[in-house]
Amino acid sequence: MNTILQVRDARIYYAVKGTEVKAVDGVSFEVHEGEILGIVGESGSGKSTLLNSLVNVRPPMKYIGGDALFDGKNLYRMSKEEKKSVLGTRLTIIPQYALDALPPVFRIKQYLADFAKTHGLSESEIIKLARERLKEVSLSEKVLDMYPIELSGGMRQRVAIVIASLTSPRLLLGDEITSALDVVTQKGIMLNIRRFVDEGLIGSAVLVTHDISLIYQVADTIMVMYAGKVAEIAPAEEIAKKPLHPYTNMLISSLTKLGVKASQQRLSGIKGLPPSLANPPPGCRFAPRCPYAVGRCKSEEPPAKNVDGHLVACWLRGWD
Ligand code: ATP
Ligand code: SF4
Ligand code: MG
Repeated sequence: MNTILQVRDARIYYAVKGTEVKAVDGVSFEVHEGEILGIVGESGSGKSTLLNSLVNVRPPMKYIGGDALFDGKNLYRMSKEEKKSVLGTRLTIIPQYALDALPPVFRIKQYLADFAKTHGLSESEIIKLARERLKEVSLSEKVLDMYPIELSGGMRQRVAIVIASLTSPRLLLGDEITSALDVVTQKGIMLNIRRFVDEGLIGSAVLVTHDISLIYQVADTIMVMYAGKVAEIAPAEEIAKKPLHPYTNMLISSLTKLGVKASQQRLSGIKGLPPSLANPPPGCRFAPRCPYAVGRCKSEEPPAKNVDGHLVACWLRGWD
């Protein structure tokens, strides 16, 4: 399988009032062709910082180190010109609220004409392609003559997926793209992305969400983040059936017990609070909340280890 994105030891901090917030602190993962990676974790775990850093590291965000190889080129070290040629074409982003990205004064068709011009593409080809793709996401081509405000939230997100697919991107990034929608619409949007990836219209996708129960249904792989670090990465089925990291386990059992959507409870079923990322605890960052913590956990950071097909960072797994 072709590797599309390879992030290695990414460290992205925020410089705030003389202190550093270690929002993304040594994160590594890969995304392959045809794969959807879902990133989950509590509020403040660094999901958005990680995703945004791939697009642009801008103040107060601070690049500390690491690589993000996208089709072999390092996103963290690209010149502005190189980045400009990649963004919106080979690397596309779906915003949380498509309305923010679609200019309100343009009909969708006018927006597409502008889009074609910006990317040096044929307007008629783009409109033709958009017509076909709209059908694929169960929208009528009448949408092309409408203004964004005339579309429902779910329709807008589907239009955003269609637009994101028009340049046959290698990678699609989405951060909480369905959190403002109802459950049925959320699933429909996710399934649209799944289909576009399966059909090769979009090479791969990284989707950030609070809702592990939603993403689990469409992602191939799930990455669980905790306090700026990766706790566990595993195939979606595996992680639901047999989570290996105590945090993943608590995340999943708290959802099952409560029986409510994670986005509603914001993963608050786990007792205690994540640590301050300005002054994180030494050792395992989950130690203050972990019922299994042993002496070593409080002083030594557990490296990620491959255990039964999971990548897991916990002293209880794979270490004797
Ligand atoms: P959520 O699920 O709430 O969207 P998240 O996992 O996306 O959370 P981030 O928004 O990436 O988390 O935040 C990670 C850490 O970085 C948090 O401690 C947050 O307070 C901090 N942070 C985020 N944005 C900024 C900023 N602009 N300035 C300073 N600190 C920030
Ligand atoms: Fe818990 Fe220790 Fe594993 Fe961290 S390393 S999750 S504190 S058992
Ligand atoms: Mg976020």
